[in-house]
Order: sequence, then structure tokens, then C-alpha cells
Amino acid sequence: MTNAFLHCDACDTSHSFAAEYRGCPNCRRAPLEVRYRDLPRALTPDGTERGVWRWRHWLPPVSARPTLQEGGTPLLTIAPGLLLKDETRNPTWSWKDRPNAVTAAVARHFGFARLAIISTGNHGGAAAAYAAVNGLGCTVFCHPAAPTLHTDLMSLYGASVVRGGDQELLLEAALSGGETFPGTTLCPRPGFTNPFGVEGFKTLAFEVVEQLGAASPTGSTWPPAVATASTASGRASANCASRGPPTGRRE
Ligand SMILES: [Zn+2]
Repeated sequence: MTNAFLHCDACDTSHSFAAEYRGCPNCRRAPLEVRYRDLPRALTPDGTERGVWRWRHWLPPVSARPTLQEGGTPLLTIAPGLLLKDETRNPTWSWKDRPNAVTAAVARHFGFARLAIISTGNHGGAAAAYAAVNGLGCTVFCHPAAPTLHTDLMSLYGASVVRGGDQELLLEAALSGGETFPGTTLCPRPGFTNPFGVEGFKTLAFEVVEQLGAASPTGSTWPPAVATASTASGRASANCASRGPPTGRRE
């Protein structure tokens, strides 16, 4: 039995840690989320690991944890009392490296051969990079107007880039063979609900607390997109509830 399991808030059911991505198998009304039976008392990173896997005790348990040394980004003071987490310092210059490091490792853990995602930008580049480092193929379905800079980056990392068409139908078709795993969103529609990658976003919140010297910020602002990152911030707080302060490095 692993430390992790899947849970549906909509019908309050729990499910085993498995490659589930089509939402709750009981009610099919909501995406699942990863929960953990037992978390460390203190938010202390694993000093033997690199990248997001420093926080592996709060991440899905996987058999291999490849990293491009994502995370560990600086927390910059840009005005009195206002801090900016500079996520452009990540390997593909985007915070999307965090969820894709986890999604790709989970896909590999469960024996998938390929990632497939919908993206017009940095999500696709990050997915392509982490698919490659995990020995997986990658397909990115893009809007016809996707910037060439981004699609070139995806291609350079080895992804197959598909422009145009109905991206959701194309993704569903890619998943139908059973060898392809979808990228991360929390969108509740069936077929697009990989619950694992968002766990990688939590490491951003963990690092902020660590960098503040075991203190929490009084507030935080996140780009909205599909709210995966802000959702992860809330999940990170929930994981830390009733836990001790973090220890380890501070930048
Ligand atoms: Zn349910």
C-alpha cells in the first residue's frame, strides 16, 4: 500500500493510487485529488533529492524521480513587503516545469509510453522536456495561432506538435489507445483530469515558506489560467495544517 490515495470531494469517496484521469470513478462529477495517509510532522525537504523531489514526501510516490533541477527559484523583493517568486529561472523558463516533472514521472511509473496535452505555450514546452527526461514521447495539440517560439521549443524537446483542429477531440483520440497519459489540469470534464501534476505546483508554496524562514506570507497572487496553481497553494496549506515549521535552506 502506498502513502497516497485519490479522493473525490463531490461524493466523499476514496480510491486507490492509480492512473485515474477521467474524474471520480464513482460519481464522474468531479476531478480526483491526491491525498496522503501520513505526512511528516515538519515541512522538511529531503536533502538527498533535487528539484521538486526535495518535497517528495508531499508528492505522488513514484518509482523514479528524474529532474532538470526545476524549482529552487529566487524570491525577490520588488517593493517593501512585496515579493516576487521568479519562476522564469526554471529549466524551460516557466513554472509549468513543476507540474510536468510530476506528471511525467507518474506516467512513467504507471507504464505509459507518451504524454499528450493541449497547450499553446509554456505548458507544452515543459511537458515536452519532462517527457523526454522520463523516456516518454509527447504530443502537444496547439491552437493554430500558437506562437512559433513556443512550438519550436516543444519540437526541440522532441514533441510532436499538432496545430489546429478540435484539440479536445484530438486529445481524446490520443488517449484512446491506452498508452498515452494526459497532462495536468483540474478541469472537471472527463478525460482531462490528471490529478497528479498539480501536486508539483505545491512545491512553489513550500519554497516560499522555506525562503521566508518558516513563515507564511500574509497573502499571495497567482495568474488565474485554470486555477491549478492557486488550487495547489491551497492544497499545500492543507498539507501543512497542524504540521511543524519547515527547516533547511533559505535563500
Ligand atoms: Zn465522486
